[in-house]
Amino acid sequence: MKVLVINAGSSSLKYQLFDMDKEEVLAKGNCDRIGIDGVFSYKAASKGIALEYDFAFPNHTVAANKVLETLADPEVGVISDISEIGAAGHRIVHGGSFFMEATLVDSDEVIEKIEACKTLAPLHAMPNAAGIRACREAMPNIPHVAVFDTAFHSTMPDVAKTYALPRDLCEKYSIKRYGAHGTSHKYVSQKTAEFLGKKPEDLKMVTLHLGNGSSITAIDKGRCVDTSMGLTPLAGPLMGTRCGSIDPAIVPLLLDNELVQDKETGEMRKMSGSELNALMNKKSGVYAVSGGYSDFRDLESNADKGDEKSALALDMFAYQCKQIMAGYIAILGGVDCIVFTAGIGENGPRTRSKICKGLLEPLGIELDEVANDCKGVARDVTGKNSKVKVLVIPTNEELMIAKETLAVAAL
Ligand code: AMP
Repeated sequence: MKVLVINAGSSSLKYQLFDMDKEEVLAKGNCDRIGIDGVFSYKAASKGIALEYDFAFPNHTVAANKVLETLADPEVGVISDISEIGAAGHRIVHGGSFFMEATLVDSDEVIEKIEACKTLAPLHAMPNAAGIRACREAMPNIPHVAVFDTAFHSTMPDVAKTYALPRDLCEKYSIKRYGAHGTSHKYVSQKTAEFLGKKPEDLKMVTLHLGNGSSITAIDKGRCVDTSMGLTPLAGPLMGTRCGSIDPAIVPLLLDNELVQDKETGEMRKMSGSELNALMNKKSGVYAVSGGYSDFRDLESNADKGDEKSALALDMFAYQCKQIMAGYIAILGGVDCIVFTAGIGENGPRTRSKICKGLLEPLGIELDEVANDCKGVARDVTGKNSKVKVLVIPTNEELMIAKETLAVAAL
């Protein structure tokens, strides 16, 4: 069975075609700069084909059709006809209070509910929905499944997901903790159980998805009980360019006092809420602390050359991750394994080591520095005295979406 996984953003439509019998990627690529001009990329590793060229994408429908045409192209394609595609899975960033699990898109109502989440995911909800509409139009006869980044976290109890704000406001604006990266945390937790030869139901774990965006999740018996991202992905440890959890009083302080130059009138005026939101998402985090570096490779090489600001950014990241991880171990009442994944989690031995440092005595966690000297592979990096397993497990959100799609479409 072949499953097409689609990740539609405001100006891009990324795709991967899986052969699910072998859990193998047949082809993948991106339709970029949709609505601007257009760049198409396509890779079919088994055929040794990698293409990239300009192609006009006025909208997502043209992009979806271009993907299908290429996949079935007699020269570069990997299937002989698009009817070989049995189902499509769509990555959806926010399911709001509507969706607790991956859902079959069998009516316009499902798409309208995804669009209704636009106050919670202003950059993603409409493009995500546009991607589904375009693909349903291009492939009307196959099941389409929406897979939500928030769904895995919907099992969080009230004590973890409620904000201490007036109840009527929380209800009016659907304010609660939804989390994000759920598809990754779910995939990694299942892979961890497989790696250890155990069932997810027999494990308590903390999964650390550490990339440009970072989130940490407490998982008990395969179910999420807490996660560090909140209403939006801004909460949790400081990240590449996101500030992470900060004292909320900083927000009104800046809104009341910080002046910015208005782009249209040139006059100085108070900063708007959306400008502050952009600042907290794009100009903060380790980028702000280090003075302009968000990539951990740059931070590490700067720190090695004596740059104190980069060293502080690295220290703060490990400190905050450690703080959240330790809190979750208390919430779980102990832990069987700590799992690192995503860009930094998979490729950053230094950060893994800093997060686990000094935890043998208080929490029974020790990392083996020799085994830990690895990148991008699934590996047991547990120290010899450790009571808790420490693992590196590469994530694969697209494969998880394809698996969920198969399960929901019951193929
Ligand atoms: P992601 O968002 O999961 O793609 O992660 C991207 C981030 O991973 C980059 O911004 C880097 O900070 C980090 N990263 C990638 N490779 C390495 C590496 N070899 N060492 C340290 N950090 C890395």
